[in-house]
Amino acid sequence: MNYRVLLYYQYTPIADPVQFAKEHLAFCRELDLKGRILVAEEGINGTLSGTKEATDRYMAHMQQDERFKDIFFKIDESEEQAFKKMFVRPRKELVALNLEEDIDPKELTGNYLEPKEFKEALLDENTVVIDARNDYEYDLGHFRGAVRPAIRSFRELPEWIRANKEQFMDKRIVTYCTGGIRCEKFSGWMLREGFEDVAQLHGGIANYGKDPATKGELWDGKMYVFDERISVEINQVDKQIVGKEWFDGTPCERYINCSNPECNRQILVSEENEARYLGACTYECASHERNRYIIDHGISATEKQQRLAQIAPR
Ligand SMILES: [Zn+2]
Repeated sequence: MNYRVLLYYQYTPIADPVQFAKEHLAFCRELDLKGRILVAEEGINGTLSGTKEATDRYMAHMQQDERFKDIFFKIDESEEQAFKKMFVRPRKELVALNLEEDIDPKELTGNYLEPKEFKEALLDENTVVIDARNDYEYDLGHFRGAVRPAIRSFRELPEWIRANKEQFMDKRIVTYCTGGIRCEKFSGWMLREGFEDVAQLHGGIANYGKDPATKGELWDGKMYVFDERISVEINQVDKQIVGKEWFDGTPCERYINCSNPECNRQILVSEENEARYLGACTYECASHERNRYIIDHGISATEKQQRLAQIAPR
């Protein structure tokens, strides 16, 4: 493996995100790194791929900067670049929780649990473990017994928690997400909402899977990632598939985006059903006039009608 994928964040003041983003992009291009970095006045959040040498240089460069010297880089080995392009984008905030009043994780956030402590929490009856990611991420893989909020976007999470408050009150709460950044704010928000005992998995699932003390145990399925790999393995001990095929419910870990450009829903679909349903999640999406699958596969109007007839609802 000649490449690496880095995942990291740091909440720290960045005075001029627009200027910072411009210079940082030039630096990343110089190293031929690919990926996506968000910069805001509250900090930085990035995922990058590059050669071992380039990623070493990137990390060394960041660690020389007082603002970023404590960054915890989660490192994956990779056969190739995990991104096609390099973006550094200034943003208003790093993660959008849609709060009336923002949370500063440097002032209010849940206690950090190391992977071993988190594993103990998973086995503790009096602890509720909440997955702070989106439903489609959960459906591909999650910690055994974790609560699955029915949300398609992180910004819906506070509302969902309020609507389901009873099941969490008077319990010890532990949250987790991919690399830890979403939990920094989410666990802080839970504390502000009045939940007293709130902790978060330090370094997220990405760190848990690499920790020699846990070897990813009690994680089921694969972890969804926001790059070309789409998903990665976490459990090195007793891996089980939990993903279910969208149409027939059989075990499946193959993600596609619905081919209706106005839907784009992420679904687990077998190759066979992808072809049958023209890459879409429903008959309605399949029949959309700009269905990408139909365009990409050069399917004629006549054939489209025939194929749609086979999947039409009766
Ligand atoms: Zn759809």
